Amino acid sequence: MLVLVRLLSCVVAMVAAAPALAQGDYPTRPVNLVVPFAAGGPTDIVARIVGEHMSRTLKQQFVIENVLGAGGTTASTRVAKSKPDGYSIIMGHMGTHAASVALYPKLGYKPDVDFAPIGLAAGTPVLILSKKDFAPKDLKEFVNYVKANVSKLNMAHAGVGSVSFTTCLLLNSIIGVKPTSVPYSGTGPALTALIAGQVDYMCDQIVNVVQQIEAGQIKAYAIGTRERSPVLPNVPTASEAGLPEFQASAWNALFAPQGTPQPIVDRLAGALDQALSDPGVRKRLLELGSVLPDQAGRGPKALGALVKSEVERWTKVIQAAGPLE
Ligand code: ASP
Repeated sequence: MLVLVRLLSCVVAMVAAAPALAQGDYPTRPVNLVVPFAAGGPTDIVARIVGEHMSRTLKQQFVIENVLGAGGTTASTRVAKSKPDGYSIIMGHMGTHAASVALYPKLGYKPDVDFAPIGLAAGTPVLILSKKDFAPKDLKEFVNYVKANVSKLNMAHAGVGSVSFTTCLLLNSIIGVKPTSVPYSGTGPALTALIAGQVDYMCDQIVNVVQQIEAGQIKAYAIGTRERSPVLPNVPTASEAGLPEFQASAWNALFAPQGTPQPIVDRLAGALDQALSDPGVRKRLLELGSVLPDQAGRGPKALGALVKSEVERWTKVIQAAGPLE
């Protein structure tokens, strides 16, 4: 009898220790890193750069999965509802984890409640862009031209809820226009269409477009930040170019589903922190025009606070812009 009791208590102790053991060993298999937009776009680019370094730190592969649809909210809903075990995480952004709240009254998740923030990966200023032979020469001309020709113009974006949609919603509401909007599964394919001249203008995150601007494949009218970007010194800020209300800077950040054990969140946050301190990763992200978070801006706490303040900011902007169509 005594042997049986001992045996039983041993089993109970082993079962109780199992999750702790599993967490301590985490990760023991590849981590699924969901990108809520098409391959080749800004979110995909940032995810691949930091994911590759995190996989080296944690000694497990980070497998990128592009889950498309509904401006990134399809993927975000899926990750919010997935098992909180650290094997399914998402590279979200200012759209999926802030603007979507006001854009989708029936959004299937609450960015600040249904996710465990891991950390900010990169700040990504937003630019006003057009096809290369768009007539206006500068932003003042752009505003007048778009006003006068809006019924003929197409604006590309990555779906309602995306950064490109939300920031051009801000732009259009400042100008007072509603062009035809053309959705793509990400600004990777939207940029291809802009380069081909199939659409007229777009608002996009800097990491997607530096090379194309420099090569003259597209035009950049302004950047929505206070200062010019060091990688695009010839592109004026929106304030310099006469549209100070266009303040549009996005960000990409990693999230796990809410309920992910703290030691796992900490491991992921630590690996992200190491990636952001790595000279090679920094160089690549900076060359693409990212703004890298300093130590205070990194980690779960800072990201949790950012999500709250961004939901507030973009809700106001979206409500002020009025009905979408
Ligand atoms: N950042 C998205 C992408 O990776 C698009 C968007 O939010 O505008 O394609």
